[in-house]
This record gives sequence, C-alpha cells and structure tokens, in this order.
Amino acid sequence: MSSKIAVLPGDGIGPEVIAQALRVLEAVCPSVVFEHALVGGAAYDAVGTPLPDETLALCKASDAVLLGAVGGPKWDKLEPVSMRPEVGALLPLRKELNLFANLRPARLFASLADRSPVKPGPSGPIDLIVVRELTGGIYFGQPRTRTPDGETAVDTCVYSRTEIKRIAEVGFEIASHTRRRKLTCVDKANVLETSRLWREVVSDAAARFPSVALEFMLVDNCAMQLVRDPGQFDVILTENMFGDILSDEAAQISGSLGMLPSASLTTPNQGRSFGMYEPSHGSAPDIAGKGVANPIAAVMSAAMMLRYSLGMPTEAERIERAVELSLREGAATPDLGGTASTSQAGDAILKNLG
Ligand code: NAD
Repeated sequence: MSSKIAVLPGDGIGPEVIAQALRVLEAVCPSVVFEHALVGGAAYDAVGTPLPDETLALCKASDAVLLGAVGGPKWDKLEPVSMRPEVGALLPLRKELNLFANLRPARLFASLADRSPVKPGPSGPIDLIVVRELTGGIYFGQPRTRTPDGETAVDTCVYSRTEIKRIAEVGFEIASHTRRRKLTCVDKANVLETSRLWREVVSDAAARFPSVALEFMLVDNCAMQLVRDPGQFDVILTENMFGDILSDEAAQISGSLGMLPSASLTTPNQGRSFGMYEPSHGSAPDIAGKGVANPIAAVMSAAMMLRYSLGMPTEAERIERAVELSLREGAATPDLGGTASTSQAGDAILKNLG
C-alpha cells in the first residue's frame, strides 16, 4: 500500500517552500500519496480555527506530516490566545500526535563554509544531529508557581525512567542505523538528580546498542565544544531545556535559518516511525510572497521524512546529495548571498537528483 503524507503548508513562506519540497518528493517517490489540509492563520481565515478537526484527523490517518510554517502579524495577537497559530495549532499538534522526540540536524556544506560563524575544528567537517526530549523536564514539571508574596518562584524538573528510556532508544536507533555510531549524552550530572537518572537509564539502553560509542558530557562543556570543535559530535542526546538551547546554538552552524530541517517523532525509530517534519524557521512575513525564500530547510525536512517515517534512506540521501550539488553550483537564495529565486533553487535540486 502507498504511504500517505498529510501536507500542511500553513502561512507566509510555508506554501512557497513546501511547493518545492513536494516537487522533489514527487520526483523521488512517485507512489507516495499527498493530501493537503489547512493549518495556522490560513485555517483560521477559512474556517475560524487554526487547527480544524479534519486537519488533525488527516494527520492521525497518515504515515507522516509535512508542515510549512504558521503565524504572522495578522494572527499573532488574536484573542483568545488559543486562536493564535503557534499556540492553537503547533502545540496541540505536538501533543495530540505524542511527538516526544525532536530531531534537529546541523550540517555545514563545504560550499557555505564562509557563511558560518563557526569554523570546523580539529575533528573536521560539521555534521551532527541534536535529539531533544520534547515533552518532559522543567518546561512541564509541577509545581510551577510563585509564592503569594511574589518574592519566590519555583519550576520543577521531573523525568521518569520511562520518559528517558524512550528518548534514549530514539537516539541510539538513529546513531546506529542512520549515523556514524557515536552518541553524546548531555546533562548536568554533577548537580542535578534528574541528570544522574538520565546517566543510569542511558547507560542501560547502551547495552542494547553495542555498535554505538557512548560518551557523557556536561552541558556547559558541550556548549563550549560546539563552538571549539563541532566536528567531534555525531548524535547529541539531551533533555528538553538543554536541547532547546543547544539546538539553537548548533543551528548557527549551517549558515542560515533557511537551511535547517527538523523532525518530531513518536516511537523509537526502526526506519518507520510516525513523525511531523518541518523547517525550523517560521513563516518569514518579511519575505513572504516575494519568491526568495530558501526552500532547502523544507526539502531537507522531506528527506528526513523519507529516512525516518517511510523507510526510504536511499531516496533521502539522493535528495541531500542534490542539495549539496546545487549549492556547489551556486544555486543559492539571497539569505545565502545568492540571487536564485525559491523556484530556481528548487529547479537546481531537481536537476541534480540524478
Ligand atoms: P522567522 O523564522 O519566520 O524569520 C526570521 C528571519 O529569518 C526573517 O528575517 C526571515 O526572512 C528569515 N528566514 C526565515 N526562513 C527563511 C527562509 N526559508 N529563507 C530565507 N530567509 C528566511 O521568525 P520570526 O520572524 O520570528 O517569526 C515570523 C512568524 O513565524 C511569527 O508569526 C512566528 O510566530 C512564526 N513562527 C512559526 C514557526 C513554526 O511554524 N514552526 C516557528 C517560528 C516562528
């Protein structure tokens, strides 16, 4: 049976970059079925809610979701807050689809080396992925409160063995099946009890993945090493807040926000787990409609979808190679210092699919 993908282009540059990702997907996997649905401000304008029931139902009935971006000045101040695209669409999608693992790769293509603020260090080329736990930790733990006098505030960091085990398995699966078999678990085990539990559970999980080299690193050291020698990393596995910070730091490596794909997965990865794939950038209202958005983050998100949800790693590599070749040929959008339009960048990727 053909795989079915829910396509949610969303707002601003979302539809522009998703159009290019679909051209590429249709070229490499013509049997996959794509069904479009409304999300974000576009959905609010059409039917009065940023996440219509039909959209959520389509996502749940699909093998994966490909999302553009949501939001924009027209909707970002809507009341009630639950009508705003990010609050009313993205957060419920993540929750309803139980997306607990967030994957953000950061890779520096050789042809973009001079656009990155980070230089390859002693370990050589930069190609890493941050696997971040997305639904636990200090962002969700209770109690979260202020004392009645307003003078003291409390946030609570909570992790259970079950939560750590399932994200550790995602990290190890990715490290062993799709990467270079090195996993760095990042924590603050010299201070935090939750980090010490992470070390225990991650060490146990490692026994089931003997091909993966495991190391532990304190988060402050990792933040420094990402700047000093980012090529040393393959898979960085970490909890919610550390992952939030480190993945933004790593994001700078690739030279532009328009280069960064992301995936959010539900179940441990066996080549076919349900996931939502989206560029890391937003709807970029400042350039929407001008035809200059960089489509690479969306195209690379589509490649991740083939790798992690559709069990098509060869096709994913074909797309990634085509992106690399098109950049080497100079088919770069203005955010990368080039003059290519969104569709010209898409043309170059298509041509290089081989
Ligand atoms: P943004 O990511 O949309 O844009 C930040 C800057 O990066 C802008 O200058 C933009 O032009 C540029 N940029 C982003 N993507 C680009 C691309 N593909 N090619 C070239 N340049 C690109 O962030 P923002 O301006 O803070 O937010 C704009 C809207 O997007 C807001 O409504 C925000 O709520 C929403 N947003 C949505 C998501 C999402 O859907 N996941 C994520 C972040 C922000």
